[in-house]
Amino acid sequence: MKYAMLAGVLLVAAACQTPTPKQTQEVPAAKDQHTLSNADSIRMQHLSLDVAVNFEQHQISGQAVWTIENPSKLPVLKLDTYGLTIDSVTVDGKKVPHTLDPTLPHLGNRLNIPVEAASRKVAIWYKTGSKATALQWLEPSQTLGRKHPFLYTQSESIYARTWIPCPDGPGIRFTYDACVTVPKGLMALMSAENTQQRSDSGIYHFKMEQPVPAYLMALAAGDIAFRAIDQRTGVYAEPAMLEKAHYELGEVGKMVSTAESLYGPYRWGRYDVLILPPGFPLGGMENPRLTFSTPTIIAGDRSLVSLIAHELAHSWSGNLVTNATWEDFWLNEGFTVYFERRIMEAMMGADYADMLWELGYQDLENEVKSLGKDSKDTHLKLDLKDRDPDDGLTSIAYEKGAHFLRLIEETAGRAKLDTFLRHYFDGHAFQTMSTEQFLQYLDANLIQGDTTLARKINIKAWVYGPGIPANCPRVPQKRFEKVDAERNRFLQGTAATQLATQGWTSHEWLHFLRKMPQPLTVAQMEQLDKAFHFTQTGNSEVADRWFIMSVAADYTPAYGSMEQFLSTVGRRKFLTPLYTEMMKTPKGQEMAKRIYGKYKQNYHPLAQETLDKLIK
Ligand SMILES: [Zn+2]
Repeated sequence: MKYAMLAGVLLVAAACQTPTPKQTQEVPAAKDQHTLSNADSIRMQHLSLDVAVNFEQHQISGQAVWTIENPSKLPVLKLDTYGLTIDSVTVDGKKVPHTLDPTLPHLGNRLNIPVEAASRKVAIWYKTGSKATALQWLEPSQTLGRKHPFLYTQSESIYARTWIPCPDGPGIRFTYDACVTVPKGLMALMSAENTQQRSDSGIYHFKMEQPVPAYLMALAAGDIAFRAIDQRTGVYAEPAMLEKAHYELGEVGKMVSTAESLYGPYRWGRYDVLILPPGFPLGGMENPRLTFSTPTIIAGDRSLVSLIAHELAHSWSGNLVTNATWEDFWLNEGFTVYFERRIMEAMMGADYADMLWELGYQDLENEVKSLGKDSKDTHLKLDLKDRDPDDGLTSIAYEKGAHFLRLIEETAGRAKLDTFLRHYFDGHAFQTMSTEQFLQYLDANLIQGDTTLARKINIKAWVYGPGIPANCPRVPQKRFEKVDAERNRFLQGTAATQLATQGWTSHEWLHFLRKMPQPLTVAQMEQLDKAFHFTQTGNSEVADRWFIMSVAADYTPAYGSMEQFLSTVGRRKFLTPLYTEMMKTPKGQEMAKRIYGKYKQNYHPLAQETLDKLIK
């Protein structure tokens, strides 16, 4: 608390002395290779969506009405679709002949609609296909309550086109309103203004007045209830999860104020979190006004809420200032990880945030090792030509990006970077940003001709070079040094029950396990389990690490709990390394195939796509 207030005072003082930032508009807009739409020339101002959700047929159908402006007088409006059936199209009320191009790999089918210079309203009647990647349909048995089905969407990176005909590129923003019909008794939510109340008719109305790109379009429907945290924050979850979720997220209101004290006003009205059923493939998704979160953060002790700090931070980096293309993804994620850790530092203290930095550095090291230290995929600026954009979306953008900002902080000074970032978010609110535009803005407003500073940071090596640059900052580890000492004592023969582990958070436990040599002997595993009950832990981060170690050591007493974990948890971050470890031995392969075969349908199509490649 004290720390946060002090930081706020310093910030205001620094901001007053800074001249107006220089704008840098001369860098041309980046070309987005992952959209087939021409919405960079035809303005897509507003979307009115009127759709019904059919749980029996696993289908969304209805009408998307686009309000457009065509100043370049183009004869054709081109939109992204993937697997959609287009029933008919009208322009200003008049039926027009549309065409749908053949499917392109990753990109789908371009929808071509004849328009005129004066055309204003383009209405498209459509239904989703059977393989809509964005949609996960859960049977009642896959939910906590087990009575009602559940649907949720995941549109990032280019899956909005699998449920809405749209210009599906991060550089194109529009406002929207929606009318969504779901079966009576269920609640529907969107990345928009939500009612908090169930509607008797099953009809819900939504309004999003701030312009957003298509990847931030989101919908969920199911047996969902709401509980307020404070005036502007709250939590949605299945009723059986609501109380636990409400406790776990109790600090979210404070988190929003802390974020505002760092980088300026929260501009989206309410901030709510929806806790999804366990199959959600990601940690969280920063859908505006309504973060979608994995239930794996519900640890019972608020120890994993840095994930919410991350999604909240996206309300500035990503949702407010958006990467122009997926090749600039580090501008969304690197900034967000840096911001997330600043929020956690202000709320929990520097020692705590330092642990997050170290765990992040370990993730970065592992990612560079698995991609290869000279791989172009370890550059911050990616090359995704003719590729699935998801292929490039690795920890590099997150951790190399965040460490790059930390290096600027350490080199230029925190006050200077904070002032810079504050102006950066204010000056580019609701706009897009390419890597080149950012670098020019950085040069004009922070480097400002200081050649020593520029040399020390070495921007080129970070943005256009591979691996971990030599000047990558390492954060001193007060708390982890103690953990290292206890681990060494154990490895040298001290009984697990004799280790000084009082007051450890899940981060300390994670570090304790991550740095264990692999494999441990079964006797060592047994001893640790007896002392610390890892097999039974309710903390998903610790559990995942423990199960990986169990597979490596063939520690069979953990296998029952591991299968239980794999039967429900759908988060790719946990599934991929655990299944990868299993695939290393014939016995493990057999186990992986059996377990995956049994629970595959509980995972989101995105997670299935990753695992299908791994488990053959
Ligand atoms: Zn993120």
